[in-house]
Amino acid sequence: MFYYRVLFPLAIDRGFVYKSDRHIELGSRVLVDFKGRQRIGIVWSDSEKPDYNAKPILDVPDDKPVITKELLNTLKFFSFYFLSKEGLFLKSALPKKLFGVKNGIDLEVENSNPVFNKRPFELSKEQKNIIQSIKLNEFSVNLIFGVTGSGKTEVYLSLIEEVLKNGKKSVVLVPEIALTPQYIEVFSFRFSHEFLSIIHSRLTPKQKFDNWLAFNKGLKPILIGTRSAIFSNFTDVGLVVVDEENDESYKQDSQPLYNAKDIAIYRAKQIGIPVILSSATPLLEDYYKAKTGKFRLFEMKKRVGKTKLPDVEFVRLESGEIFAQDTLDAIENTLKNNKTVAVLINRRGFSNYLVCGDCGYVFLCPNCSVSLKFHKSENTLKCHWCDSSFEVFDKCPKCGSPNVLQRGVGSQMVEEVLSLKFPDSKIERFDRDSTSRKGAFERIVNDLRAGKIDILIGTQMLSKGHDISQIGLVVVVDFESLFVMPDFRAEERAVSLIMQTAGRSGRKEPGRVIIQLSSEDNPFVEFIKRHDFKGFAEEELKLREALSYPPFKRIIRVISESTSKEKSYELINFAKDKLSKRLNLLGPSKCPIFKLRNKYRYHIIIKSLSIVNDISFIKEQLYSKEGLYFDVDPISFF
Ligand SMILES: [Zn+2]
Ligand SMILES: [Zn+2]
Repeated sequence: MFYYRVLFPLAIDRGFVYKSDRHIELGSRVLVDFKGRQRIGIVWSDSEKPDYNAKPILDVPDDKPVITKELLNTLKFFSFYFLSKEGLFLKSALPKKLFGVKNGIDLEVENSNPVFNKRPFELSKEQKNIIQSIKLNEFSVNLIFGVTGSGKTEVYLSLIEEVLKNGKKSVVLVPEIALTPQYIEVFSFRFSHEFLSIIHSRLTPKQKFDNWLAFNKGLKPILIGTRSAIFSNFTDVGLVVVDEENDESYKQDSQPLYNAKDIAIYRAKQIGIPVILSSATPLLEDYYKAKTGKFRLFEMKKRVGKTKLPDVEFVRLESGEIFAQDTLDAIENTLKNNKTVAVLINRRGFSNYLVCGDCGYVFLCPNCSVSLKFHKSENTLKCHWCDSSFEVFDKCPKCGSPNVLQRGVGSQMVEEVLSLKFPDSKIERFDRDSTSRKGAFERIVNDLRAGKIDILIGTQMLSKGHDISQIGLVVVVDFESLFVMPDFRAEERAVSLIMQTAGRSGRKEPGRVIIQLSSEDNPFVEFIKRHDFKGFAEEELKLREALSYPPFKRIIRVISESTSKEKSYELINFAKDKLSKRLNLLGPSKCPIFKLRNKYRYHIIIKSLSIVNDISFIKEQLYSKEGLYFDVDPISFF
């Protein structure tokens, strides 16, 4: 008799023991009786004979496992690494339909002969050099760090073509569901449409399953997908691309909290293939790895063709103003020329904050160097990392100026002002809410291209996407507000956002960028003027090192959640007592979003020098405690 642990897509680890009179390969689907009904599970591991009478495996519907050994090991490793249940990883990894269908699935590989269209132009010398120096049959991580419009996409399209010619497949991760139509458009110029399999969370279960199967069987050898596509079958995969690699959507923000980029690199290493990370503003951690030789660094400094990067102008905002007169004049001019104005506001951040009107200093916690939240009702500043409170300063702690400004502009206010000043213009919102409906993103992009939108007010969404040459002017409403986040990445995020958004304008003819601010003494102003992300990155890394933030130390966040405030507080203190024996902790303190989906939340922040040891320690101390969860290498601190 053989004994196996069978796992289900639930918040559990390891699964339950079943018996079989024949050998079954790990990763196979099996039909078993589970809690009184027949369910499909996955053979997760071998097992000893238990001391109770195990139930039998009723059926093995498929000829081959649906999960390869390599993927099985990957899921086990990352469920350890991200301190998340194995069953939740299983749920993320496979199309839902596989757990519903009880009859067999044909997983036999079939041949396809992808059709290529010729590249319509010559590659630049820069592009050729990169393509030639990436070996397709060995592991490497290649960071392509190139300004917007420098032809990064063409580099990986050419590599994908090579890979397909060798009879292999490619996986391309893209940041947003909403962007996939644009990617399909770009890919369709080169590869015929029927060879693309698309995977993202807004497909119907059937579409998702069909695409998953077609990629598995080799019928659609190019996979374009959002983060969960990283769990595809990697047999015969020859290249993985992570486009816009700095994008935060590669980290899942609900459980299991995994980062698809880490998984991409891990899997590529297991099977010996290259990974391409591409961005105009790479994540500092990745830039640092490339700079220090752990990844390979390829810089592309010039735009393809004759277009220049747009000129960036900074405009001082007087107290109480939402738009400066210069900005309004520029908007009017742009509208007269039948071009679109893109207005960038901050999505999250803190709605209220204090800034020095002379030196531009945004008030930081002296212990943690993260921005303080201004609580208007209590007239205090609070740190959401170490729980300190501060009286509101009447002088700037940096330059001593008494010119301390209280700011906070909501998106609604911006829209109201603009529709009053420009009553005849068509104003459209472009953010996660307005683009979440199916087809909404495409409609806005199409309207934009057709010149039907005069003013587009947007958040982080504006920085994403491809060439929108209709945009003649980009306005950043409140520069300093972009830096106000309870997070050591606030500066990086802000500079990256501005440079990416600026890069969307003027792809065909020179565009204009106006940034409104309280003070031009901000240390980042010069880097932004010169479109110099590298210069910024070098400066910022020095600061990170001095403050022991990533990439110099890693961060683990422990979060408690409960519908009862007292219970949540009790839980986080339980965690504190267990962990403070060995680890250095910040907090506990209230999470910046204290109440979320009716649950009260506290957190502890750990800076780690030895991440795997610390994860093991946390696992041993706290893993099974109900109401606590963990975020390893967190991206968001809300
Ligand atoms: Zn100051
Ligand atoms: Zn603090």
